[in-house]
Amino acid sequence: MSHSISIDGTPVTVEAEPGDTILDALLMAGVGFSYSCQAGNCGTCRCELVSGDILELEYSEHALDPADRARGVVLACRSQVWGDTVIRKLDDEEFIVHPSRILRCSVASLDRVTHDIHRLRLDIQSGGPFTFSAGQYASIEFPFAPGRARDYSMASCPDEATLEFHIREMRGGSVSAGLAAGLRSGDTVRVSGPFGTSYLRANHTGPVIVIAGGSGFAPVRSIVATMRKQGLASPVHAYFGGRAERDVYGEAEMRNWVEGHTGSSAHVVLSDPDANTGLHAGPRRFGLVTDAVAEDFARLDGFKAYVAGPPAMVDAATALLTSRGVATRDIHADAFHPAESKEGNT
Ligand SMILES: Cc1cc2nc3c(=O)[nH]c(=O)nc-3n(C[C@H](O)[C@H](O)[C@H](O)COP(=O)(O)OP(=O)(O)OC[C@H]3O[C@@H](n4cnc5c(N)ncnc54)[C@H](O)[C@@H]3O)c2cc1C
Repeated sequence: MSHSISIDGTPVTVEAEPGDTILDALLMAGVGFSYSCQAGNCGTCRCELVSGDILELEYSEHALDPADRARGVVLACRSQVWGDTVIRKLDDEEFIVHPSRILRCSVASLDRVTHDIHRLRLDIQSGGPFTFSAGQYASIEFPFAPGRARDYSMASCPDEATLEFHIREMRGGSVSAGLAAGLRSGDTVRVSGPFGTSYLRANHTGPVIVIAGGSGFAPVRSIVATMRKQGLASPVHAYFGGRAERDVYGEAEMRNWVEGHTGSSAHVVLSDPDANTGLHAGPRRFGLVTDAVAEDFARLDGFKAYVAGPPAMVDAATALLTSRGVATRDIHADAFHPAESKEGNT
């Protein structure tokens, strides 16, 4: 017995055989629906399950994180239909379609931007073209750590030929701590992607707040630099959080993003500042980056928010933004969870 799949708010209803995925049935019926990898890896076919009986096949957390799953979002390509089903396209969602690629890249440069953050630049040798949206990330496998690919966010803009990443050395980190000793200019690196759903929503015309902790500056840089390149006029409030002065980087770029843009601001916030504040290279605020945001805004209704960095900071920022009125769908957050904590989460 076949089942029906309807798209809420539209006249679309198609038939599906038991066990078809939502995506298969829609495509078979000629319905235009955004998708890319068809294997649960990219998240392009995310949609809301309004009602129905589905069986979810295995998928990657890159494509659908637990918070989105908890609010009823599913992947059309991984949802087998076993009863009449209704889905809804995600509100105000800007769908992106970038083919999944596996690239061979060569190391163009590796230098330090702080005492523990490296800037890695890669030239694509083969496997391209690599298209991505600002804010997405890739999985990188280095030659000194075979079989241990790690996720890193693109810091470069999608229109740049050279890919840039900011990689923080984790103490005891089996990959990041080996970068300085293990990687040389010209080495070949394997990059796969793009992944992630915390990408720039260029259709948003209201104010934007970005909050970066440490190397979380990478995706935020890509997002705001792309906004400015595209001439998007939204006011931007940029917050960078670090422990001390030696953790600060990218400040000049951050101040450039807001200069000449009415209602915009940039803040460097140090949680454990140096004893001699005279050493600070620019205006500084002290405390947790989330406290600075809380101090500045009683309400944030209508804002779009991009957040990236250590999981604890991202959690605190997400909770704060929600409590100040930012809609869940307007918060795009990438917590830099270690690889192990993602194992088994599907
Ligand atoms: C979507 C996504 C995007 C990311 N983007 C970036 C990026 O742009 N730049 C960047 O520097 N990192 C980023 N990361 C983190 C990165 O993928 C690695 O987890 C990190 O480099 C550590 O890898 P490792 O192999 O050196 O450490 P591992 O050997 O995996 O871990 C070593 C030890 O450090 C702990 N640990 C590892 N990472 C963290 C952490 N973030 N917080 C607290 N403890 C940790 C582990 O629990 C373990 O005890 C991102 C992660 C995700 C999920």
